[in-house]
Amino acid sequence: MNKTKMISTIGPNSSDYAIIKNMIASGVDVIRINMAYAKFDFARDVILNVRKINNEENVTTGIMLDTVGPELRICGLEKPVISLERGKLIRIVSTGIIGNSDIISVPYKEIIDHTKVGDFIYLNNATVKLQVTAKNDDTLLCQIHNTGKIISESTINIPNADFNIKFLSKYDEEVIKFALQMQVDYLALSNVREESDVLDVNDLLINLNDNNIQLLSKIENRHALDQIEKILKVSDGIIISRGDLALDMNIEKVPNIQKTLTKLTKEKEKIVIISTDILASMENNDTPTRAEVSDIANAIIDNVDALILGSETAIGIYPVTTVKTMNKIIDEIENNINYNNLLHEITRNENIQISKAIAYSTVDSANRVGAKAIICSTMSGSTARDISNYRPSCPVVAISPNSKVVRGLTINYGIIPHIVGMAENTDELVELSLQAVKKILKLEAGDKVVIAGSFPLESVNYTNFMKIEEIK
Ligand code: PGA
Ligand code: MN
Repeated sequence: MNKTKMISTIGPNSSDYAIIKNMIASGVDVIRINMAYAKFDFARDVILNVRKINNEENVTTGIMLDTVGPELRICGLEKPVISLERGKLIRIVSTGIIGNSDIISVPYKEIIDHTKVGDFIYLNNATVKLQVTAKNDDTLLCQIHNTGKIISESTINIPNADFNIKFLSKYDEEVIKFALQMQVDYLALSNVREESDVLDVNDLLINLNDNNIQLLSKIENRHALDQIEKILKVSDGIIISRGDLALDMNIEKVPNIQKTLTKLTKEKEKIVIISTDILASMENNDTPTRAEVSDIANAIIDNVDALILGSETAIGIYPVTTVKTMNKIIDEIENNINYNNLLHEITRNENIQISKAIAYSTVDSANRVGAKAIICSTMSGSTARDISNYRPSCPVVAISPNSKVVRGLTINYGIIPHIVGMAENTDELVELSLQAVKKILKLEAGDKVVIAGSFPLESVNYTNFMKIEEIK
C-alpha cells in the first residue's frame, strides 16, 4: 500500500465515470479540478461522480479545486485566433484597442510602466515568447521569438515586472463559493505572492462560515519564495508549481528550491506537494522517461506528501496507465527506504511536546515490530497528521465518524482515511479499528498493528494511549 499520495487532475480525457473509477482503484487519493480550464458544470459532474464511486466502493477520495489566480489577460482581438510570426515586431499598448498581429492591448497601464527593455513576455499560457526591444511612455515594442497563436483574452505573463493586481478576482470568489457548496476539501491557490493573499481568502471563508476547507498555496513566483515563512504560517500546506516557477526563476534553480522548500515545510509540519511535469511524457506515450522516474524517486526520498499529475491525466491519452505507472514507481521507491533512520533524522533536532510523544512512540514501535498498520482514531485529524509527519514504515488507518475530517486527511503521507461508526468506549473503538483495518489491508493471523487513541473515550479528547495488538 503506497504512502506517498497521488493527486490526479481530471480533464476532458479522464472525466468519464468508468475512467475516474479505474483511476481511484489504481491508487489516486485526491481528484484535482483546475478551474483555469474547467467550467462549473464540468466540476460539479466530476465531484458527484467521485462521491458516487466513494459510496459504492467504500473508499475515501479528497477533492481539490485549483483557482485561476490573479492572472493578467490581454484585451480582445479582431479574430478569435491570431497567428504571430517569429522575427516580426508587435506593439503592446494599454488603450483598449482591438488587437491584431501588429498590436495588442493590455488592461492596465502599469504593465507598460513596469516592463523594461530586455524583459521577456509570454502570451497564451507561455506558448508565445516576446522580448521587449524598445519602449516609450505608452508602448512596448517587442520582437516575437517563436511562431505561435494567441487567443482573445488569453494570458500575458511578464516574469520580471513588479506590479500588484488584486489577488481574489470576482471569478475566483465564485470558485470559492462553489467549492464550499460542493464541500470540497482542498483549495489550491494559484500565484500566491504574499501572506495577505492567503488571508484575503481566509476572510472570505470566515464570511461564508467555513471552517473546514484546507488552503494550499501554490508557490510559483519569486515573491512567494521571499515570503515563504509567512505564507506557510497561514496555509495548511504548499504546492511547488514547477511550471510557472521555472518561468519566473531560471529553470536550473528549481531543483534546489524544491529541496529547500520541502525541508522547510516538513519542519513546520505542513503539507508539501510537488506538481508539473511529473510524468509529462506519458501525455502521449504509455511509458515514462528514465528522468521522470528519477525525479519522482527524489521527491519521495525528500519526504513530500503528494505528487500532482496534471495534463498527463487531464488531456493525456493514457490517464489510467499513467496512474498505474506512478503507483508502481512509488511502491518500488518506498520499499527501499530505511524508516528507522528516517525517524531519527526527522526528530534529531526536535523538542518533542507531550502531545507528540505518543505519535512518536507509535511510529517508533510500528517500525521496530514491523507492524502492518497503525490505527489512529481521530476526532480533528491532528493526531493522524502528527503520526504521518514522522513518516512511519506502514500505512496509518485514520478512523473517524466525521466524513469531513476523514476526507481532509486524504492528502497526507501514509494516511488511509476511513469512516467508522461512533464507539461507546475504548474497547469498542479498538474492536471497530481492528475490523476496519483487517478489511482494508487484508491482514493475516500474527500480523501486528499499533493502535493510538484516547482513553477513556467518554472523557478524554486527546490521544493518550498506544497499544500493540496481534491479529488472531
Ligand atoms: P497550473 O500551474 O496549475 O496553473 O498548471 C502549475 C505550475 O505552474 O507548475
Ligand atoms: Mn501555475
